[in-house]
Amino acid sequence: MPQKKAVIIGAGIAGIASAIRLAVKGYAVEVFEANSYPGGKLSEIELNGYRFDAGPSLLTMPHYIDELFRLAGKNPANYFLYEQLDIVCRYFYEDGTRINAYADTGKFAREMETQTGEPAASIVKHLANSRDIYSITNHVFLERSLHRLQTYIRWDTMRSIFKFPKIDPFRTMHRANAHSFKDARVVQFFDRYATYNGSDPYQAPATLNVIPHLEHHFGAYFPEGGMYSITQSLVTLAEGLGVKFHYDTYVDEVVVINGNAKGIRAKGQNIIADLVVSNMDVWFTYKKLLAKYPGIHPKKTLKQERSSSALIFYWGIKKSFPQLDLHNIFFSADYRAEFDHIWQQRTIYTDPTVYVNISSKHQPDDAPACCENWFVMINVPADNGQDWDKLIADARTSIQLKLSRILGEDIASLIVCETILDPRGIESKTSSYKGSIYGTSSNNQFAAFLRHANRSSKVQGLYFCGGSVHPGGGIPLCLLSAKIVSEMLPGQ
Ligand code: FAD
Repeated sequence: MPQKKAVIIGAGIAGIASAIRLAVKGYAVEVFEANSYPGGKLSEIELNGYRFDAGPSLLTMPHYIDELFRLAGKNPANYFLYEQLDIVCRYFYEDGTRINAYADTGKFAREMETQTGEPAASIVKHLANSRDIYSITNHVFLERSLHRLQTYIRWDTMRSIFKFPKIDPFRTMHRANAHSFKDARVVQFFDRYATYNGSDPYQAPATLNVIPHLEHHFGAYFPEGGMYSITQSLVTLAEGLGVKFHYDTYVDEVVVINGNAKGIRAKGQNIIADLVVSNMDVWFTYKKLLAKYPGIHPKKTLKQERSSSALIFYWGIKKSFPQLDLHNIFFSADYRAEFDHIWQQRTIYTDPTVYVNISSKHQPDDAPACCENWFVMINVPADNGQDWDKLIADARTSIQLKLSRILGEDIASLIVCETILDPRGIESKTSSYKGSIYGTSSNNQFAAFLRHANRSSKVQGLYFCGGSVHPGGGIPLCLLSAKIVSEMLPGQ
């Protein structure tokens, strides 16, 4: 039988993982990427001797990356190395409270009790609840397609359905956390996990309290060489399996003949294939690549609220800060007001929560000697035509004032170089609709079911992977989307 050919639109992490899985299955795989580099959001920036990871900075569940190497019969350690973090993140509150979020549950719970007075037992109980939600939801919502009958007729799915009330879908995350803890700082700490998939803790279901389990049970990691090494090592693996990458090649169309995906059109040429996997945001896949076929557009799915976006300042800093760690959070004094600004007013609050990631803490050559590479990020609304230049200028001032006040240093005077990424840039660099970083939001309990499936129900041979489709955004889930796609396809 002649080898079947698969084309993949986009070399984001899910596109690369799909390429690896399909190559292992025996397909001839070609990846078409609009940019001159792979990785999409998982890319890097070089600036005046400083190196920055452009997007993701927190690695959880690296076993999904290792799995790709093992699948290809390789030892992951020969390609990709990472170390587990002892302190996941350091937290700074405006009232002077400092918390080290230790990876070790007992140590973390004691730290919370020491710093806030919240009993350690409440923290341990909350994390146990988080684990229970994970064990109920993981194989239904994350590891399998929600859109296939087979998922529902399995014994473990049935068991999960009986335990459904335990996943707490009818309260908001904030309400559940405010019920679990007396101390407002602890509530704020756990509410923050809603932002891990671009959602709002005051609207999102308490089911999202599963997220702390991913960090505290599976751990947080730093890859040797920085986050971009994930992209590099997986591209090396894919190329070794014979996958061909075509960079600087924007795909204009999915070629559909008689209801079957027959390839793509790029640079004025048709590239024929047996199946097409789109790693492009599903909204743009329909609106641009399938524009000729409005009848097949899933209107309800495409209308879903988008996740939040991000504003990132990449600052080369000419000093080092021993009080900072790899991941640092500087909380807003009024979290509700911050989310109200993002989700209701669609603007940026004057006192946003600021995340500072400094990879040079673990990878010293990411910055010159005695200097640090600061990735300074705040959550912002998706792009709805706001006056971003004004908002960015105001945010820059308020962030610098906040960090200067808390760290006791004039931060503005320490910045030697800067580049900025905002929702418009995220959309133009990665074709992410409205610059949303996690596809659709999870602000209601039906969000998981309304996310687009990994396979088209209208076009035979058309598949979808990446953060805008099931099971959602973030590196681990994007990797799972690739796994679900490949499991739908026969081996060659
Ligand atoms: P994307 O990264 O969206 O890439 C899609 C690729 O397809 C792009 O390269 C694009 O150029 C290409 N493409 C699109 N259309 C076409 C076309 N028509 N023709 C050719 N090529 C096309 N996740 C975490 O796990 N941890 C974090 O700490 C974290 N932090 C984040 C911080 C930021 C600032 C951002 C932006 C994201 C963050 N995320 C994080 C989310 C994570 O980066 C994404 O969920 C994930 O990388 C998305 O991967 P993807 O496969 O959907 O593809």
